Amino acid sequence: YFAEPHLFTEQEITIIGDDVHHIVNVMRARVGEEIFVSDGAGKTVRAKLVSLSPKEVKANVVEVLAEECELPIRVTIGQGLPKGEKMEWILQKGTELGAYSFFPFSSERTIVKLDAKKEAKKLERWRKIVKEAAEQSHRAVLPELLSPVSFREALQAAKSYTKCAIAYEKEGSTTLHHVLGDMSADDSLLVLVGPEGGFSVDEVAQAEKMGFLTVSLGPRILRTETASQYILACASYQFER
Ligand code: SAM
Repeated sequence: YFAEPHLFTEQEITIIGDDVHHIVNVMRARVGEEIFVSDGAGKTVRAKLVSLSPKEVKANVVEVLAEECELPIRVTIGQGLPKGEKMEWILQKGTELGAYSFFPFSSERTIVKLDAKKEAKKLERWRKIVKEAAEQSHRAVLPELLSPVSFREALQAAKSYTKCAIAYEKEGSTTLHHVLGDMSADDSLLVLVGPEGGFSVDEVAQAEKMGFLTVSLGPRILRTETASQYILACASYQFER
């Protein structure tokens, strides 16, 4: 489970929201039983339930867990909005593979259009998927999912990362192996992955102008939903062997 950081003290944790229903009604937990709770920012504890009500669950911290299961480099996936339910798959699997955060973006070849109402609904569903995947993978960090942005805004995000890359399948791109080889633990990497139709030459040029590296994900063209998983698996192979 996850508890918001301000409800997470050294001794006591208060859980509110959907997790209360899960603990009380689905797991039918009782006072005295133990659960694992993370603050979503890297700390996980084992805690003993001390009170259960329909609105909130309280638990006392028994032990702070030392186990570290977060990717040593923070990888953010900027994902060109894909069609259908692919985004759900990308977020679920990407969270399992250790992504630090995600943001969707629209670009020249984006087909999906989200109005404000649809976007809010999608975001709510997508955040739920991320949370459930983080719990199932025993993540101590709850990956952040930011609201969709334009391609220009995605490029402007560059300053927040140690390194930024745009995944581009054409000749002349550096290899991901090379990009990762140049990084060390605690660095942060942003990779932009294009939608189904890929990036235009102009978009790649704009990204390069902003200091993004064009990076190849190998000699085969991957579907947009495969590309992010490839990046995360390579980061794990590089830093977690
Ligand atoms: N329509 C494009 C084409 O066939 O030329 C392919 C786009 S691909 C399905 C979607 C996105 O995945 C691309 O924009 C790119 O970001 C990423 N991608 C897929 N395979 C890649 C590769 N081998 N190297 C780099 N990026 C790749």
